[in-house]
Amino acid sequence: MKVAVFSTKAYDRQFLEAANAPKHHELAFFEPRLNQDTAILAAGFPAVCVFVHDQVDAATLEILASRGTRLIVLRCAGFNNVDLKAANKLGVTVVRVPAYSPYGVAEHAVGLILSLNRKIHRAYNRVREGNFALDGLLGFNINGRTVGIIGTGKIGLILGQIMKGFGCRLLAYDVYRNPEMESLGGEYVELPELFANSDIISLHCPLMPQTHHLINAEAIEQVKPGVMLINTSRGALIHTQAVIEGLKTGKIGSLGVDVYEQESELFFEDLSGEIIQDDIFQRLTTFPNVLITGHQAFFTEDALRNIAETTLNNIADIEQGRSCPNEIRYQPEVEAKVLVS
Ligand code: NAD
Repeated sequence: MKVAVFSTKAYDRQFLEAANAPKHHELAFFEPRLNQDTAILAAGFPAVCVFVHDQVDAATLEILASRGTRLIVLRCAGFNNVDLKAANKLGVTVVRVPAYSPYGVAEHAVGLILSLNRKIHRAYNRVREGNFALDGLLGFNINGRTVGIIGTGKIGLILGQIMKGFGCRLLAYDVYRNPEMESLGGEYVELPELFANSDIISLHCPLMPQTHHLINAEAIEQVKPGVMLINTSRGALIHTQAVIEGLKTGKIGSLGVDVYEQESELFFEDLSGEIIQDDIFQRLTTFPNVLITGHQAFFTEDALRNIAETTLNNIADIEQGRSCPNEIRYQPEVEAKVLVS
């Protein structure tokens, strides 16, 4: 099938071309993000392949559909950037990659925890400057500490398994109990209890109206003083301004984030040398106890291989008229509830 691949980076091309070698789809790579202005690039392509920051809204879908596109292929799990209702109306099928790197994301969360605790990001710079003083680098033993995991699906469970290996007590919160988390020794509690007793809190639930700004001023009131907060899930789970206030008073001891509410203006692009206009983001970067990565938790060889293979298999399923297990069907009742899955 002829596929127009948007938001292409060199690594996308490398992994998609390798996975396509035995499959022989006709892939055309475009660097721009898909939106109403760039949709014309896909004229004549029956399939369009997109990532998290492409805008597959109704207007864009109309342009695509009017020029022959019948399939939107997401190379990610979340589909909050796709207007499923409009796609359904236009007869455009939407497929995705539901899970590609739960280990990668959980391991990245652990990387943030270890770096923040032992100030490895600061030590790296100090040693390069010939500063070998230890003042300001004091950490704590992770062993014996309590980790609160919010969202105990695929990634939250793996984080629990890793932290159990460190000798941590696990507190868990989810709308559904995961028996594997319970057999690991994870204790399900309500959020106030998790907030009050956790030394480290890590977020692994989806962004939905119920979880939007889950970590706000009221939640920060309830946390243990000096708590470490980790977010590798979605930026809008935390109210960034409230977290900045918590960092200023010391109620939040450290913050590690791989996601940020306004990240689509910043992440995945090289903006070095440009003036960043987002003052809230810039304030975050001034704290010594804040570590930010640019939505790279998923970014492992294994995940890119998995994404490429699943993406091309999804295309083959649709092309050959097979039912595709990764098709996202428009469900009006779900649309009202889910922003990001
Ligand atoms: P999952 O669906 O396996 O698990 C999500 C869990 O959250 C489920 O157990 C669900 O019951 C729970 N949940 C739903 N509503 C909740 C609520 N109101 N409160 C608490 N828990 C709730 O998903 P996953 O694969 O573990 O992914 C988790 C999140 O990680 C995704 O939603 C996505 O936002 C994020 N993610 C980030 C990256 C990255 O690169 N940073 C990559 C992949 C996924």
